[in-house]
Amino acid sequence: MCGSRRREGEGKRDAESGREKKMEGMYPLGIVTASILAFLLLVGIHGCWGKGRKAAGKRGSGAVAAGFGGADVIVVGAGVTGSALAYALGKDGRHVHVIERDLAEPDRIVGEILQPGGCLKLFELGLEDCVDEIDAQRILGYVLYKDGRSAKLSISLEKYHADVVGRGFHRGRFIQRLREKAASLSTLSIISSETFYYRNATLFLCSDHIKHSVQLKQGTVTSLIKEDGIVKGVVYKTKSGRESKAFAPLTIVYDGCFSNLRHTLCSSEVDVLSYFVGLLLENCQLPFPNHGHIILAVPSLVLLYSISSTEIRCFVDVPGQKVPSIANGEMENYLKTIVAPQVPTELHDAFVAAIDKGNIRTMPCKSMPADAHLTPGVLLMGDAFNMRHPLAGGGMTVGLSDVIVLRNLLRPLHDLHDAAALCKYLESFYILRKPVASTMNMLADAFYKLFSASPDEATKEIGQAYFDCLSLGGGFSGDSTALFYGLTASPLHLVIHFLVAVTYGVGHLL
Ligand SMILES: Cc1cc2nc3c(=O)[nH]c(=O)nc-3n(C[C@H](O)[C@H](O)[C@H](O)COP(=O)(O)OP(=O)(O)OC[C@H]3O[C@@H](n4cnc5c(N)ncnc54)[C@H](O)[C@@H]3O)c2cc1C
Repeated sequence: MCGSRRREGEGKRDAESGREKKMEGMYPLGIVTASILAFLLLVGIHGCWGKGRKAAGKRGSGAVAAGFGGADVIVVGAGVTGSALAYALGKDGRHVHVIERDLAEPDRIVGEILQPGGCLKLFELGLEDCVDEIDAQRILGYVLYKDGRSAKLSISLEKYHADVVGRGFHRGRFIQRLREKAASLSTLSIISSETFYYRNATLFLCSDHIKHSVQLKQGTVTSLIKEDGIVKGVVYKTKSGRESKAFAPLTIVYDGCFSNLRHTLCSSEVDVLSYFVGLLLENCQLPFPNHGHIILAVPSLVLLYSISSTEIRCFVDVPGQKVPSIANGEMENYLKTIVAPQVPTELHDAFVAAIDKGNIRTMPCKSMPADAHLTPGVLLMGDAFNMRHPLAGGGMTVGLSDVIVLRNLLRPLHDLHDAAALCKYLESFYILRKPVASTMNMLADAFYKLFSASPDEATKEIGQAYFDCLSLGGGFSGDSTALFYGLTASPLHLVIHFLVAVTYGVGHLL
């Protein structure tokens, strides 16, 4: 286009001056000059390409000699965070091989609400469009219900982009969008090009390429390949059952809450705090549209929010290590007799209809402190590395925040092959993630402990005081909401916030 515009301009000028003949006479001279210029440029470009090729050859041979098979990073698991990291590293020009057990759309009842803080992280990663076209619902705040009273938790998000709000969605649809984004980097992109035209002929095309290269493969990773204490890659089973190996200087394990690789990389104990029993309510409206509803029922908290324009996810929390049996009808009985009477009347019929439909699913709510062994060549991330109670819906926000911390740390490193140095360097990851991760973890576990039914009178009193404090609204609930939303990343802020709530409660009792 650029060339044709130039040609049009030239033709106009020539016609205006009426010097076509003279110009024609100059063509042979012009062609000779252009050819010399072309030759010189070609030599220059060849030199530049030659150097580039030699450098690439050096890198390539190093990689092959070490058996790394061309990838800079292997990501195990393309869930929420694995896919986001693959995209982020691919964007930075890394070669990323993602190995995912099942590339079909996942169908699990977890991770269906993304807090505004998580949404902000999507923007930082260039992934904000992953909540588009999946019928995601905007969540503008939360309402807490206790003993017939309600407290609204919402704050103004005016200072953020209009799309930085909570979102409720079908998790599988969101993950497929993230995977598509990562897979979109599997092709070679030209980031800059200069084209030299002479009349109708294109003389050169000189381009700088950046290779966004993310490869997604279906396979189940069965073990890590370790040599001299350094993880060099993974062994995985392909879809057809064939065993294969992949190598890279850095392997990042993102295999989720049921991780089978975690035991070699950390010694943290996994606590099951309770179970979430999931139902899908249809043909009904939440009392406060576009709000999450948390009913502080006894002994089961109930959580409700829209995940599409026609469906409301309902989670019933069953404390302890055991859930009533679905098979022998204990669960149906529990939900109908103990929980249903405490559900807001507007939702009662839809709640009972969902039980009768029979699609009752359960998930353990786990908590696990972040305590990975530093092992050269590998990093444990996501739920495989750190979990908190899901009541505050902060898991994906923490995971996406970790993706940004890691991407930023890796950005200045061109070569990841010095495993020992890299391992030492990545120690700072555990410190840098703390503001967001510790705040969300502490909030989630404290929130659950304060509001779940407790036989302990003191905990009950503090829970009641906290609810009363939140009911005051304004500054009392604003701080809490910002923490809940994942927008305030400061453990100290969280501690101060709880101290204020407890002081309020104690003052009230005296
Ligand atoms: C009941 C419940 C409700 C929750 N609700 C919310 C919520 O509303 N909001 C929120 O932010 N968080 C929520 N969470 C937490 C959230 O789901 C997780 O924090 C988040 O999904 C973690 O992402 P991940 O990438 O680590 O794991 P996942 O998203 O689980 O991804 C792991 C991936 O690894 C793959 N995989 C596993 N093993 C292998 C293997 N050996 N080889 C290859 N691939 C493998 C899996 O197929 C999967 O795709 C909830 C959790 C629970 C338990």
